[in-house]
Amino acid sequence: MIHEQIQLVRRAIEVACASNDRDSSSVRVLAVSKTRSSAEIRLAHDSGLDNFGENYVQEAIRKIHELRDLRLTWHYIGGIQSNKTKDLARYFQWVHSIDRAKIASRLNDARAECRPNDPLNVCLQLNLEGETQKSGISADDVKDLLQHTRQLPHLRVRGFMIVPKVHSDSSLEQEGFRHAAALFRKYRGIGGDNWDTLSMGMSNDFATAVVEGATIVRLGTVLFGPRGSLR
Ligand SMILES: *Cc1c(COP(=O)(O)O)cnc(C)c1O
Repeated sequence: MIHEQIQLVRRAIEVACASNDRDSSSVRVLAVSKTRSSAEIRLAHDSGLDNFGENYVQEAIRKIHELRDLRLTWHYIGGIQSNKTKDLARYFQWVHSIDRAKIASRLNDARAECRPNDPLNVCLQLNLEGETQKSGISADDVKDLLQHTRQLPHLRVRGFMIVPKVHSDSSLEQEGFRHAAALFRKYRGIGGDNWDTLSMGMSNDFATAVVEGATIVRLGTVLFGPRGSLR
């Protein structure tokens, strides 16, 4: 079942890339595995996925332990509380959701202690339409946070993550992706050598996100089926 879904997703990514002259190998599928069991993740891995995204730290740590025999890359995509930065630095290879300088500094310090020779990959989370219920920074705040994060030696700044505002008019949603992509290009100079990631697009809009330049799509439902109640 997941095997077929992965094929469908890969084909949709190829079509979106072809329409935009992109190489489909430039798009990485991040399987969002929140609420899914370790057994489901194992099956997904057997079908060829190796990047997994989690939103809840304790749930993730349990699964990371249970699956440590596999070579998986773990991405944290949830909101960050400062008392969780040690765990994030220890267990994850990526954190997509940096939205304040204090969190970046704490992650840097924690990474220095647990993995001094292996910088943590991070993205800054954008919130371009001022949605107060979501985390993320406005376009005006990008420069300061990026400059701050760039000079932290134990973080490797890769790009932006965004969850655009949901609009009934899908062309407005496309605008959100386009705006993120424009900022991504604008800040390439400050972003530096590792600036290569635009994490955007979920189950219902990933093809549009790829057309607009996504390099990581974060997919839960389309791969694993509907989520039940939270955890
Ligand atoms: C849950 C989640 C996803 C996956 O959502 P689906 O609609 O199930 O694909 C992607 N990104 C973030 C930040 C999420 O929290």
